[in-house]
Amino acid sequence: MIHRRCSKPSCQKAAVTTLTMQYSEKTAVLGPLEAAHEPGSYDLCSTHADSFKTPVGWSLRRVSGPQRPVFAQDELLALADAVRRAGRVSTKQPVLRTQRGHLGVVAD
Ligand SMILES: [Zn+2]
Repeated sequence: MIHRRCSKPSCQKAAVTTLTMQYSEKTAVLGPLEAAHEPGSYDLCSTHADSFKTPVGWSLRRVSGPQRPVFAQDELLALADAVRRAGRVSTKQPVLRTQRGHLGVVAD
């Protein structure tokens, strides 16, 4: 169970939802309370979640359940690509130090 307080400075109530502002899509997402506080997201109590008003021109999406799309599909693909590229750069071949029979000792 996660216990964090509402992000509103004057509020002492327990947070029940996390508000995430997706600036690229001009969408505010009210989703399940995140396990850890992320920069750019706001934990809200039920009162402040219900009274939350999106900025003009923005839309509000309420997401229930434990799963919430954090990344858009193209962002996920870009992330996967970046991880793959990073992995390729840092992958070093193990250096075989000694060998006896079919067993070798590999330095790390
Ligand atoms: Zn509150």
